[in-house]
Formats: sequence, C-alpha cells, structure tokens
Amino acid sequence: MNLANVAQRLGITESRLQGLQETVIRESAWPEPRLLRFEKETSGIEVGTVVFENGEIVFGYPKIRRPLMLAAAIKRHFSEIVAVEEKMNGHNVRVLSINGEMVALTRGGFICPYSTEVARRMVPEDIFEKHPSLVLCGEMVGPENPYVAKDIYPTDSIDFYLFDITEKNCKSTFGVHRTHEMAEEFGLKATAFFGEFHKESAAQRIKQIVIKLGRQGREGVVMKDPDNKLAPLKYTSSKTNCSDLSVAFRYYNDYALDFFVSRAVREGFQSVEWNESAEERKARALSLGESILMPMVDTIERKLQGENIVQVVQIRVKSLQTARDFEYHLRRSGIRAIFESPQPDDDGYLVRITKLIMSTNDKTQALLDGEMW
Ligand code: ATP
Ligand code: MG
Repeated sequence: MNLANVAQRLGITESRLQGLQETVIRESAWPEPRLLRFEKETSGIEVGTVVFENGEIVFGYPKIRRPLMLAAAIKRHFSEIVAVEEKMNGHNVRVLSINGEMVALTRGGFICPYSTEVARRMVPEDIFEKHPSLVLCGEMVGPENPYVAKDIYPTDSIDFYLFDITEKNCKSTFGVHRTHEMAEEFGLKATAFFGEFHKESAAQRIKQIVIKLGRQGREGVVMKDPDNKLAPLKYTSSKTNCSDLSVAFRYYNDYALDFFVSRAVREGFQSVEWNESAEERKARALSLGESILMPMVDTIERKLQGENIVQVVQIRVKSLQTARDFEYHLRRSGIRAIFESPQPDDDGYLVRITKLIMSTNDKTQALLDGEMW
C-alpha cells in the first residue's frame, strides 16, 4: 500500500496517517481482503472508513443529525425545497466490489459475512462489472435481520433498500435524485420517496407522513436537499421512539444512558410542537410509560423464574460456511451468541441464534438477590 497516496486521498498528511495507525485505525485481516478501519471519526474522516490492502478507500456513511423542533430546524437548515424519503429501520451497509468480489461493509467498517451473502443475492453482479468503483449505500431490513429484526416490511426474510450511492476514494455521495434514477436503472429497491416540499410547508406535510408511518410501525423520514448541497436530517415517529425504548428497557443495563434520555426528550418536543390536546398527550404518556415499564417487568419476572435474559433472532443462509463465518463475526464484534444447528429449508438453511444479554442478566439477578443499585 502506498501510504503517501492513501493519505492524500484521505485528505491528510502521511505523518498524520502514520500517527492515526497507532490510535484510531484498526486492522482487520478477516474475511479477505485485509483492510484498515477507522474506529472513530477523526480529521474529518468518518468512522467506518475503510482502506483496502490494494489502497482503495471507502468512506464511512456520514452521521445524520436530528432536530427536535421540526419546523424551526427545517427553516433554519434547508435553502428552499426539502426532499423527503422514508427512513428504514435495519442496519446500514455499503455494498461494493473489491478484487472482483461483492462485499458488504457494516457501519463500523467490518465485512459482515451474512450481509455479504444477502447482498450477493439481492444486488445484480453486472452493476459492478459496468461500474466497478460504485459503492451502494442501503439499509438491510426484515425479520431475519440479526442486528435489528423488524417484521414491518414486505419481506419474510431480509431485503436491501438503496438510499444513496458513492464511489471508492470519494467522500461525496450522488444524492437523492441520481440514487433513485440509478436504482430504477439497476433494478434495485430504493427507500420510498415521499416528494419535495417547500420549506415553509414541509414540516406540516412531514408531520402527516410521520404519523402515518408510525401507524404502520415504521420509523420515520430522512429529509434531504434535492441539490445534495446540505447535510440530511432525520425525524422519527413516536411509535419508533417507544419501540426503541421498549427494547432498551427490556435490556436496561446493556444500553447507554443517552439512548433512554434522548428518546424520552424527543417525545416531549414532539408533543409540544404538535400542539396536542390533553387527551392526545395522555395517550402519548401512556404508550411512553408502557414501553418503559412493561418490558422491564417482563425481564425481572423472567429472571425471577430462573430464565436467562436472551434475545432470539434467526437468519437464513445459502451456505453453511456463511453461518460459521457470521458466528465468528458476532464474536469479534463483542456479541455473545449461541448458534443452533442449521435446519435445511428450501435451498438453504435456517439458523436460530440466541444472543446472551449478559449485563442485564447479571445485574437483574444481583438486584433480585438484594444487592444495591
Ligand atoms: P447515528 O444516530 O449515530 O447517526 P444510527 O445508525 O443510530 O447512527 P440512525 O438514527 O439509524 O443512526 O440514522 C441514520 C441511519 O439511517 C443511516 O446510517 C442509515 O443506515 C439509515 N437510513 C434508513 N433510511 C435512510 C434513508 N432513506 N436515507 C439515509 N439513511 C437512511
Ligand atoms: Mg438505524
């Protein structure tokens, strides 16, 4: 790898790159090809940025900021028109071809063996034969997503939805219009496009969209500048905030404090901005309260009955090797999980995975035994 050349394309000096190699850059030798991974954002280089051993760079997908007061933020942030897309709830992947083979990178910059197998099934190979430098940014969603399992999308397994495109060695992305055009050309699914609104009326329209999405259990929207000159913003439904909270309170000792607080605060601002009636506010309070208390009580009762606190997910693989590789991938990501023996199904295998939620499990037992918080 030519360090000077890589540093130049990263936009930093060679000595800075060498310095970073001892701090924020980690090497990953598996699965092939070998790569360097940025574990933190630094010098304007996004977390999850990857440098492959042949020197090709794939920049991390930028973080999307979230307003709490929708109308005020839209007026402040956008120039005139706001393009609105669905925000889908799964995991972020960057699909690309390296040395002629398709791989899927996670947000953190690992090659995920399961996401890679799914990508090879969903994304036509010839896209990369014609355009070898493309990087397809999308969300993998569905009930057989082992990171975020959701049965609200039209798939009974896992599906890939494109939401942006970039190129190797390139920081900027193609933006909303080119992405949807290319999705059509390539025969790929893309996240739903709800239209373009003038910034004066956008908040009102987005409120209606988000309420409707919420009723379907869907997450929310990403607002984008049609000319792709401004950073996108995201905004989510109350249903999603509550559903996040219910997962987090079920596993209350395994989530960071900010995860809980930020979601509760979103509910406060949404309730005020949407000028709710006393009755509507009561209903919001009830669902917020239920999403906190019910799953937590369930966890405590399960532990009281001697159960272990676990989360069961399921994947479907074509090859047994993918299941074995995914097991290793979860372990190296710090997730403890038990893989059941694969069950033949159609032309592949179903694999049930029991994730051990260690911290909540042990904390709950200790508290039940009378220990102090
Ligand atoms: P962070 O909050 O730190 O940005 P996160 O993964 O928790 O990280 P999310 O709240 O999920 O962030 O929002 C950003 C993510 O939303 C993107 O990384 C992407 O995976 C996902 N996403 C879903 N639909 C879209 C879309 N239409 N456009 C852009 N991103 C989308
Ligand atoms: Mg997400």
